[in-house]
Amino acid sequence: MNTNKSKTAFDEAKKYIPGGVNSPVRAFANVGTHPLFIAKAKGSRVYDIDGNEFIDYVGSWGPMFLGHAKECVTEAVKSAVDNGLSFGAPCLAETELAKRICDIVPCVDVVRMVNSGTEATMSAIRLARGYTGRNIIVKFEGCYHGHSDSLLIKAGSGVATFGSASSAGVPEDFAKYTLVLPYNDEAALDSAFEKMGSEIAGVIIEPVAGNMGVVPPREGFLQKIRLLTEKHGSVFIIDEVMTGFRLSLSGAIGRFGIDADIVTFGKIIGGGMPVGAYGGKREIMEFVSPTGPVYQAGTLSGNPLAMAAGNAQLEYLQEHTDIYEEIEQKGAYLEREFKAAAEKHGIDIRINRVGSMMSVFFTDTDVVDFETACKSDTERFKKYFNEMLRRGIYLAPSQFESLFLCDAHTEEDLEKTAKAFGEVMEIL
Ligand SMILES: *Cc1c(COP(=O)(O)O)cnc(C)c1O
Repeated sequence: MNTNKSKTAFDEAKKYIPGGVNSPVRAFANVGTHPLFIAKAKGSRVYDIDGNEFIDYVGSWGPMFLGHAKECVTEAVKSAVDNGLSFGAPCLAETELAKRICDIVPCVDVVRMVNSGTEATMSAIRLARGYTGRNIIVKFEGCYHGHSDSLLIKAGSGVATFGSASSAGVPEDFAKYTLVLPYNDEAALDSAFEKMGSEIAGVIIEPVAGNMGVVPPREGFLQKIRLLTEKHGSVFIIDEVMTGFRLSLSGAIGRFGIDADIVTFGKIIGGGMPVGAYGGKREIMEFVSPTGPVYQAGTLSGNPLAMAAGNAQLEYLQEHTDIYEEIEQKGAYLEREFKAAAEKHGIDIRINRVGSMMSVFFTDTDVVDFETACKSDTERFKKYFNEMLRRGIYLAPSQFESLFLCDAHTEEDLEKTAKAFGEVMEIL
């Protein structure tokens, strides 16, 4: 596979952009090669600037649930363009998208649009703090909620100690208000609430973790958070930026029948345009400015092109709910084929999958939290990734990410992928 043009483009980009990329994982640093520069994408395929074609399982990290350049979405954007790119004033498409989200997601009465998932979660925790008058936020190790200061915190040493910053530039004074607990650990959660329940403003979680690779919640774990937050007057924030409108039409909330106080969205609700949103119970949401004392604003929030794309994508999903069952079958097929091939060639793997989200971990230990995810053989992953890429399969360039299926993946795509996986297991 010739990727010389991408290599040259990367060298050029590095002169003007830190690390040559606008989001770190794109640099392919974990897989020992240079990134591919994408020229165009259509359906299940992406095409790089050297003219190579790939079956894409990244899907722009989640938004492209219908496949790339889906006509109903691109047409909606095209027809919005000529009416102006931004007004900084209300437009009807904002109410339309907000109404769709409120109609679809049970615990969302009202919703505020922002420009990214990071902004949504950052605003949601400010709201939780403002609403409760408390400071402490609980998050779970291995969950990613964007890059705001309070959420770039990793576990400290020992259970129920406060976290430390996982990035330079985050003051320790911020870190001390974020408590980091192991995912799926009910005992740690109980003990945290027992010790400081009256100081906990909110708990934020990925209802199916996708940012340490896919890790599903244990039966009852989300319900446990709901019980404890209710009991202690804390706000339960479900971060559906990745899972929203993916794990079911009403996301993980619908799939698991769980209730939350605030829900954050992004990715799919923008159809590929930069969008985020946070919504929830009216009583809490009306603490946000201008009705309440918690300030949050955005020059480009509710942007008419982004709203047009989001409305088109969600409308399509509302009208084609059979997509969810079909994508479940696609996921089940890949999981089955991958497991059989790994077993045949004696490669230790664990596959975690929920619907269209799936991770292959190179380990012989069940992956239930960040600690067990980290037992994976990342050197083996690196080889696996590069060999799959050479066979035309574009996966996320890290062990700790999800593979995303989309509606545009065809039977032929999946068979090619399974075949490539089989070949790679043989030489791994
Ligand atoms: C991607 C993601 C975010 C951050 O969204 P951005 O749009 O990248 O800022 C937040 N939470 C979760 C669960 C995500 O997957």
